[in-house]
Amino acid sequence: MIKLESGAFQLQKSQGANGYVIPLGGSYVVVDPGMAMGAKAVIAELDTAGILGDVSQVLLTHGDTDHAGAAQMVAAAAGGQLWIGRADADILAGRAVPGTLVRKLLSMIMPPKLPDTVLYLGESPGFPQGMTAVPTPGHTPGHFALAWGNALFCGDAARVRGDGSLKQFSGR
Ligand SMILES: [Zn+2]
Repeated sequence: MIKLESGAFQLQKSQGANGYVIPLGGSYVVVDPGMAMGAKAVIAELDTAGILGDVSQVLLTHGDTDHAGAAQMVAAAAGGQLWIGRADADILAGRAVPGTLVRKLLSMIMPPKLPDTVLYLGESPGFPQGMTAVPTPGHTPGHFALAWGNALFCGDAARVRGDGSLKQFSGR
């Protein structure tokens, strides 16, 4: 893990997406642990850092497989709860149809698996204190950005251009 200016850490072993670890007074929150193929390495990275058992929550900005594929395994290994926007959970659980052809195909090939019990960002009680879940639908219907201190973990709501300016991410 690399410590960032905000005080959060960036996972080095997550695959497909930037994964983060946020320290919250004795426990830790993992954001977007990446693709399923990187799950074991992420779990080992957290274990090596000595915090695996202290990860109380895994938060997903959205349900795309490159952000959410490893989440179930990481949450299970840590004994933590998994949070996701309801609209994206409904898609992953097959209760709603993905909005685009690409996502329909992806949902058939490698849908991220969710635990039987998930908590809904912006709805369920018990969300980590000191953080705010901000609805940012567009890239996916259930997309959330996660604010902590001066940092915003915005998933695929926006991307940074080479010149440092922000660009809205495609809804695909
Ligand atoms: Zn995405």
